[in-house]
Amino acid sequence: MSSRRRSRRHELVESIAQGAALLTEDGEVVAVNATARRLLGMPEDARPRLAADTLINAELAHAVAEVWRTERPTTVEVLLGERHLRASLSLVRDELLLLLSDRTEERRIEELRRDFVANASHELKTPVTGIQSLADALGVVVHDQPERVPALVARLSNEAERLVALVHDLLDLRRLEEGTPPVGAEVDVAELVRQVAASLFGRAEAARVQLSVDAPDRLLVPGIASDLRLLVQNLVANAIRYNLPGGSVRLSLRELGPPVCAPLGGGLIELMVADTGIGISDSDLPRVFERFYRVDTARSRQTGGTGLGLSIVRHVAEQHGGSIDVDSELGGGTTFTVRLPSRHR
Ligand code: ADP
Repeated sequence: MSSRRRSRRHELVESIAQGAALLTEDGEVVAVNATARRLLGMPEDARPRLAADTLINAELAHAVAEVWRTERPTTVEVLLGERHLRASLSLVRDELLLLLSDRTEERRIEELRRDFVANASHELKTPVTGIQSLADALGVVVHDQPERVPALVARLSNEAERLVALVHDLLDLRRLEEGTPPVGAEVDVAELVRQVAASLFGRAEAARVQLSVDAPDRLLVPGIASDLRLLVQNLVANAIRYNLPGGSVRLSLRELGPPVCAPLGGGLIELMVADTGIGISDSDLPRVFERFYRVDTARSRQTGGTGLGLSIVRHVAEQHGGSIDVDSELGGGTTFTVRLPSRHR
């Protein structure tokens, strides 16, 4: 091939945004752009013969051979090392054009979605099956053993509550995962923390857990009040749920001083929810923010947990430009620390 023709080919391939390579039928690489080199793991200066050196992947080599044989374009998805690549192959006159795109991230997201749907369906099945069998049981005992009716109704209502909580959490999580950042009014988090504590006071008392709040009169954060409420509610509900009789939950809210927040060009507020409860082991700690991850499924379910609370909390914190940390000791209690920017960014 003349050097002018080769250089025209090269320019053409270089101008393509996705990975691109032009090959001859005997496997010579006429041109290959930087993206394709990166995706195929080819060294910068290499001019390999494709079939032998580059297409280490048998499927891709096979697809190339098929396109030469049938002269029909094709698209295949191949795994090359850790990467999922989509390869589209077609003949352009007497050469084969290979277009490559990296589908690794898409595949990861698809997998997460599939897992989520599978987990959510499984979680929904439990209360739905419970409701169904309790309704059947009610139908049987209502005439013959009416004294059993109140207990069955109470269990029925319990299962229905679980179902409602789960559906609400799923909807919240889906909305938060869509990721529209909050355009916010100013929310008084100090007032919000007091309100959440007041609403959970009865639950704390029933669990014989002492709940206390240490917050300034007023602390403003730009954000969405209902989401920030979800954040505080979930953390405090957990601190009560995974506590022990005689234990305590302490909520403290403060504004961090300028030296800490100077690089962000604004203030930071810090909310700590510290409990003296059962704690979380080092091996479970990194996983508690995952959807549906529970250290003790029975305890979570029994106390009204859905396994989604901390995922919701993390999303709310991150959507508000903040972060969440957890510190825990098995048997020694847990502290969640949320930091949020206190001014518009
Ligand atoms: P759940 O609805 O099960 O509470 P979360 O997502 O809120 O789901 O929490 C995930 C898991 O993390 C819980 O099931 C529990 O095992 C653990 N966990 C959360 N908060 C605490 C806490 N304050 N103390 C001990 N364990 C906790």
